[in-house]
Amino acid sequence: RLPVVAVVGRPNVGKSTLVNRLVGRRVAVVEERPGVTRDRLAVEAQWAGRRFVVLDTGGWLPRGDALEAKVSAQAERGLAEADLVLFVVDVTVAPTEEDLAMARLVRRAGRPTLLVANKADNDRRELDAWAYLALGLGDPFPVSALHGRQTGALLDQVLAQL
Ligand code: GDP
Ligand code: MG
Repeated sequence: RLPVVAVVGRPNVGKSTLVNRLVGRRVAVVEERPGVTRDRLAVEAQWAGRRFVVLDTGGWLPRGDALEAKVSAQAERGLAEADLVLFVVDVTVAPTEEDLAMARLVRRAGRPTLLVANKADNDRRELDAWAYLALGLGDPFPVSALHGRQTGALLDQVLAQL
């Protein structure tokens, strides 16, 4: 069985964009509207000659309506299967209640976790990533999934932890 990297985080932080970037092609649906990726998507990826599976867990809200609960259940299954969790946040905004609630769930799952500070499109945004130390998931790893900034370094880090 290939190692599994689960990409989790609240809607609209850029999980699907990151999955496309990690996999090297467009596989996940990127949407302006939050929470659109309903179906769990597992895609094989390769980096530096090593193969692994990337899991896009879709929108994940700790509470809410039935659909949200279902999406959340998918994410929790993803967490349980993961050899490594990429917890994605959006540095263009301050940590939200949803981020904090999910960070608690991720910590409770006890899987090795990397805190990915996405939308760090430039140096100033990169500094904004430090606000996410508050999640208690270690140092944020700033990337821009959209522009490919630091995503190669992130892949190196992923492999180092698999
Ligand atoms: P998901 O709901 O977490 O899967 O988020 P998506 O991947 O669908 O992205 C949500 C929105 O954020 C889209 O408009 C993306 O283009 C945008 N986005 C994703 N990554 C970045 C990034 O690194 N920088 C910026 N500026 N926008 C991004
Ligand atoms: Mg998505």
